[in-house]
Formats: sequence, C-alpha cells, structure tokens
Amino acid sequence: MAHTHRWTLVLHLDGCHSSTSSYECSCGAVLSDNAERDLAGDPWAALWMEPVYETIDRDERGHYVKPHVEEVICFRCRELQAGATPRTIRLATFEDGSTWEVVDSR
Ligand SMILES: [Zn+2]
Ligand SMILES: [Zn+2]
Repeated sequence: MAHTHRWTLVLHLDGCHSSTSSYECSCGAVLSDNAERDLAGDPWAALWMEPVYETIDRDERGHYVKPHVEEVICFRCRELQAGATPRTIRLATFEDGSTWEVVDSR
C-alpha cells in the first residue's frame, strides 16, 4: 500500500553557513535537510557568518603562545561570501535501510 510520508520536525540546528532540520515520519523514516545560507536571497543570513573572535593561547601543536585574539571564519562561509552557490542536501533514510538523497543548487 502506498504510504505518503508525513514529516514532523524533530530537530533544527543552526550552523554558521547552513542549518539542518530533521524530520520523522510515523513509519520510521527520517529526513534531514541541510541547507546552506542563501546570501543573495536572504541578506540577514550574513549575520550567522560573522567571524568569531577567539582567544588563542596554544598553537596547533598545543604549545603555549602569548594569548592573542584571532578572527576565525570557516572555509565554506568564505566561499559563500565570495559568491559560491548555496546547496541544499536532503537525505532520507527509510525503515528498510534504503536512502534517498537530493542535492539541489540554486
Ligand atoms: Zn512514512
Ligand atoms: Zn561556515
């Protein structure tokens, strides 16, 4: 019998350049939707992509260095700010273990 999935939002996580929403259907299927921020369509999205300032007192090998503040911004944020096309990746996992993935670029 054909079943029409009815997705219920169970989780929403905001990252710097994308947000992830997870949905569940009563049949046990799970859908997750990872959408990169569309700066052209939503100028407010840039608010999430501001660099973070972190106090650095260790170098990458864990050695102590004079504490200083560094601007940290992730690689993909930079790409999107430079005009890269945001992608939406939708991944569904069904109860029988099969998956279905859609990658969508605007
Ligand atoms: Zn279903
Ligand atoms: Zn980012």
